[in-house]
Amino acid sequence: MLSLHTLTIKKAHEKLKNKEISAVELTQSCLDRIAETDKKLNAFLTVTGKEALEQAKAADKKIAAGSAEPLTGIPLAIKDVILVKDVKNTAGSKILENYIATYDATVIRKLKEASAVIIGKTNCDEFAMGSSTENSAYGVTKNPWDLERVPGGSSGGSAAAVRADQCLGALGSDTGGSIRQPAALCGNVGLKLTYGRVSRYGLSALASSFDQIGPFGKTVTDTAWIFNAIAGHDEKDSTSLTEDMPDLTKLSPQIKGKKIGIPEECFVKGLNPKVKQLVEDAVKTLEKLGAKVDEVSLPHLPYSLPTYYIIMPAEASSNLARYDGIRYGRAAETETDTLIENYLKNKAEGFGDETKRRIMLGTYTLSSGYYDAYYTKAQKVRTKIIGDFKQAFKEFDLLITPTVPDVAFKIGEKSDDPLAMYLNDILTVSANVAGVPAISLPCGFVNDLPVGLQMIGNYYQEETILEAALAYEMATDWNSKKPKF
Ligand code: GLN
Repeated sequence: MLSLHTLTIKKAHEKLKNKEISAVELTQSCLDRIAETDKKLNAFLTVTGKEALEQAKAADKKIAAGSAEPLTGIPLAIKDVILVKDVKNTAGSKILENYIATYDATVIRKLKEASAVIIGKTNCDEFAMGSSTENSAYGVTKNPWDLERVPGGSSGGSAAAVRADQCLGALGSDTGGSIRQPAALCGNVGLKLTYGRVSRYGLSALASSFDQIGPFGKTVTDTAWIFNAIAGHDEKDSTSLTEDMPDLTKLSPQIKGKKIGIPEECFVKGLNPKVKQLVEDAVKTLEKLGAKVDEVSLPHLPYSLPTYYIIMPAEASSNLARYDGIRYGRAAETETDTLIENYLKNKAEGFGDETKRRIMLGTYTLSSGYYDAYYTKAQKVRTKIIGDFKQAFKEFDLLITPTVPDVAFKIGEKSDDPLAMYLNDILTVSANVAGVPAISLPCGFVNDLPVGLQMIGNYYQEETILEAALAYEMATDWNSKKPKF
């Protein structure tokens, strides 16, 4: 019998529409797969089986009545920083271990309106801070290609769940690469949208001027379908864009005549030569399909990582200040004499090391003696980086880089060295610093571990990168290879 959980969203949609399968069968198949595999993988923090089956039943009724939207009856997993009403939302942190969301994030409201099935909440680094999922208070998620390796982060649970066929697609959040980096290390497609394209209402904030929710899919089309359902203006988010959204459910491959720029600055120190080779091969494939390729320079690109690691902790320290154990978050069990001691105890017990490190860094760079030297300077450099992208997109339709300099690393390998961990983001952060859209998709394997190709587009041009990604995907078959897990 066909294992329904292995289907793509597009295939499952066709079968649901033709009544070959039911949403209840499809959901049950994913739940069985989770039960069978998640002890090893640890991708899920909460599985909402009962609710998912109820949603699937309702979806079946809708399909029977003749209205099957692309996501109707499709089981999706949600990173545990996106609120789902009446379901626990830990953000990977002990400080929120008992927090039950009281409302739906806008993206969840939209998924529910589309009659998608929400199957559970996935593991992540604490408050989305990390590149490996090792900063979760609930244990690391394993990479389905090699259980001794990390799945990437911070949305590692979502990436692993999709690649291990525990669900058909997932949502993550990307502040500096947390969708694209784990997508690359697990062999999925992952998309970060133009800043403001998707509402942040109901997302546990890390750094508000970077954060964007986005989709993971097994294919480019699946990813586009989820994007289509969640994006669009929301009056509950003051940074939400009002620009019209293209209909991406009818995506077609387009690459002929497109101008691709290869930023010379992306050939960073530490780039695995085999990863570089695969990306160069991918570029050759795109050239054969009719793209025009040239080198381009974005001179301020090397400053993206330091700029990000100044502004992001500054915003994080401000966003996380609310978790004092009184207004928000878990209170420490021991009694204290003063209010200040109480705050300190609650935070000391509730937050993990990386979160504390970033709160201290951010508080430092925002303090009056250092504000101009660090925070203001970083904002100025951010403007220069935005300028570089705007300049490049006058000439090019899209830019291509590797997503990550190397393949998935071993669990524990970088956990004592924050700088080595931060270097994982060197190729992804610039899209967040500038606010442009970017996608990662599989472009091959090194030692049986997947490698990601990153395509970066101009503001609002998700369609251009998805069309180019689809053209590449159709010319290759990397995502037909599955982990023997
Ligand atoms: N790895 C990056 C960080 O640690 C990105 C995190 C993210 O995108 N949420 O900040």
